[in-house]
Amino acid sequence: MVEMKDMNKYFGELHVLKNIDLTVEPGEVVVIIGASGSGKSTLIRCVNGLEEYESGQLIVDGHPLAPKGGNQKSLNAIRKEVGMVFQQFNLFPHLTVRKNIMLAPQKVKDTSDTVARATAERLLDRVGIGNQADKYPSQLSGGQQQRVAIARALAMEPRLMLFDEPTSALDPEMIGEVLDVMRELAKEGMTMMVVTHEMGFAREVADRVIYIHQGQIVEQGKPEEVFDNPQNERTQAFLSRVL
Ligand code: ADP
Ligand code: MG
Repeated sequence: MVEMKDMNKYFGELHVLKNIDLTVEPGEVVVIIGASGSGKSTLIRCVNGLEEYESGQLIVDGHPLAPKGGNQKSLNAIRKEVGMVFQQFNLFPHLTVRKNIMLAPQKVKDTSDTVARATAERLLDRVGIGNQADKYPSQLSGGQQQRVAIARALAMEPRLMLFDEPTSALDPEMIGEVLDVMRELAKEGMTMMVVTHEMGFAREVADRVIYIHQGQIVEQGKPEEVFDNPQNERTQAFLSRVL
């Protein structure tokens, strides 16, 4: 689903992603962990072209996404196939929950009003807030808003979902309800790349955990390998701080 080969990215002088080699198989859940500023967000933002990279190779579901300056003809196709959920829910404040979910399919895929509406209701039921469709985002709790954001991404029928710290802005009592939705999605076979500090979720749901340090993948493996028997001293130090 995703293939990164020797990818490098800079922000000016800052070499933010260094020689990244990473393959994500269909149906796989990959959790990315690492300290703040290590490049986790930048890495997953490259996958849907929100960030450009300088060198290497990136292929998303068969579509090559060229480095900066290259041919970006696949970008639209990739954006249709890749859903993203952010730390700050980024809902449209002036639209109801239902309209938030209907908008992209109608604009991008020409989905009819009837079908978009039915899809929105089905997805809201699926994330457990079927009764909130007529509210505005500001009338919902943070956990509910994030579940709307997930439903909105799912409305495009993505082949891959990216999550960038989806629970980091939530009050503690709301984290579980969002992780539950993500866990269900994983069970249903969605391919997912998830940046999170929720180590319990990573241990339980991830097929693979990737540890990034200063823009480099320094360790990866099954959750029990990375958490219980980290090989790299950077990983050991990081885990001893967060576990
Ligand atoms: P993480 O998500 O792991 O906290 P980021 O990918 O957000 O890390 O950032 C990695 C590094 O790149 C940090 O040093 C950050 O300050 C820098 N950075 C991120 N975005 C930009 C940007 N748009 N312009 C310049 N530097 C950036
Ligand atoms: Mg980040």
